[in-house]
Amino acid sequence: MQTRRLAFPCPVCGSGEVFYTCTPNCCYNHVCGACGATFEPETKRKGGVVTGIAPPDPLPDATDPTTECAVCGSNAVYMVEDDSLVCGKCGATLELEIGEVHPA
Ligand SMILES: [Zn+2]
Ligand SMILES: [Zn+2]
Repeated sequence: MQTRRLAFPCPVCGSGEVFYTCTPNCCYNHVCGACGATFEPETKRKGGVVTGIAPPDPLPDATDPTTECAVCGSNAVYMVEDDSLVCGKCGATLELEIGEVHPA
């Protein structure tokens, strides 16, 4: 299954200019380039596992949106065709949730 890089809009203004500002061993704080809001995406297990996941090409950059698999803790979380999330490591299907929303 071909995947693509994670992308989600700012929960405050809907802009797609979302950047990851920290490192996976710290936190998942993201900032919106349009309105300056900060927030942290999280995943929830959806149930079900997919196999044969091909990582996106090119792989995400350090500032691309990132989150953590709720099942195995990997940050190889990618999107598939129908905009649902899968973990590239354990294959779990995931649901995205945005928390810690702080408008600028
Ligand atoms: Zn925004
Ligand atoms: Zn996983």
